[in-house]
Amino acid sequence: MTRTLSAITIAVTLTLLASSAMTGAGPAGRPLLISVDDLPVAGGGLHTDPGERELITRGLLAALAKHHVPAVGLVIWGNVKTGADRVLLRRWLVAGHELGNHSASHLDLTTTASDTYISDVEAGRAGLAGFLAAEDNRHVRFFRFPYLDEGETTAKLDAVRAYLARSGQRNLPVTIDDQDWEFEKPWVEARRKNDNKETERIGDEYQEALHVEIRDQEAKGDRLFGRTVPQILLLHANEVGAAQWDSLFTWLERRGYRFATADEVLADAVFKDEPRFIGDAGFGLWDRLISLRRAHDAQTAVEALLKTQSDAWNRGDLDTFTSVYAEDASFLSPTGLIQGRQQVLERYRRRYPDQKAMGTLSLEIVEVRSAQGIEVTALGDARPSRVHGLSVAARWRLAYPDQPDKKTAEGLTLLVLRRHGDSWEIVQDASM
Ligand SMILES: [Zn+2]
Repeated sequence: MTRTLSAITIAVTLTLLASSAMTGAGPAGRPLLISVDDLPVAGGGLHTDPGERELITRGLLAALAKHHVPAVGLVIWGNVKTGADRVLLRRWLVAGHELGNHSASHLDLTTTASDTYISDVEAGRAGLAGFLAAEDNRHVRFFRFPYLDEGETTAKLDAVRAYLARSGQRNLPVTIDDQDWEFEKPWVEARRKNDNKETERIGDEYQEALHVEIRDQEAKGDRLFGRTVPQILLLHANEVGAAQWDSLFTWLERRGYRFATADEVLADAVFKDEPRFIGDAGFGLWDRLISLRRAHDAQTAVEALLKTQSDAWNRGDLDTFTSVYAEDASFLSPTGLIQGRQQVLERYRRRYPDQKAMGTLSLEIVEVRSAQGIEVTALGDARPSRVHGLSVAARWRLAYPDQPDKKTAEGLTLLVLRRHGDSWEIVQDASM
């Protein structure tokens, strides 16, 4: 009897091993966390009727249940105003979803002082925590920045991150940011007019827009890490979603996604370190990482350019030294303004006729600032732009080790660089 049982156990184990070997480490499919913002119901004043709010919630939960999606819903506590709203939140919990904090009044960190912002986030956390404690003793684990805006200064970002750490909340990032909320108003207006043709058209556009965003961020994430990475999709708890999620989830399944829990997705190494991205608009995680990488690449390019310059100088090669200036560069110094690369070269030739006069140059970067803004996609979604320009503050030093009578000269310079094909060139140089 015992022998028979263990034979079966071995057979089952072998089958399991074989199937996991075929599909990789875990279950098949790219893990995807569905996160839903602005609970109990998104869309502000559009949905004041409790019956309508109930219907929307039921629609969203039905789509999630049909596709076995374990979602995280982010609650704006200031919008939980009535007992009926608490009933809606309870439905999410009963269906097995997790609720996180999305602040009390959905402030934008860039336009808010960090103290005010943190008080509002804490009010949201405290409200939700009280509610969850009464429901099965659950806790608030996640926070999501409203508008995905993490602040325009490092001081703000650090202040909010310190508060989140103190209060035991983890920032729940988004990797697929999209504009699903934009479809809500036109959808509701068309539905209230019973304009089925129009709701159908809006529904098609909703699907199309999300497909484009998902494919775009999918490619970006995989390119960044050189492998198939998990994703976190941002959706909103709205009426258009209640009607469209079933189709969207079907499309995602066909595309190879597997709906996964927050714990599984966040355990991936790509979510280990939060990037220190500073900006006055919110972006998905991959866009933040790409933006930081671009700034880093630009900094590396500047370092290489200044090295080219000092190496050229130190072998007496003024042609190469000035080759990094733009054709129309401006050169400002205490002796005046010079314009054009050729004129810059001639100035240097006059002042430094030979290598003895040139001495040994060293350039030390004091600060690099990159000019990066926002690009807007065809879908109206903001993305960080590439680095369009750079300003570099540097310290220069000319030493004459072989000429004891000649003193070391030093000063500061401010360089402005622009892109030139794949490289950079100096367009303005103010040396003092
Ligand atoms: Zn929100």
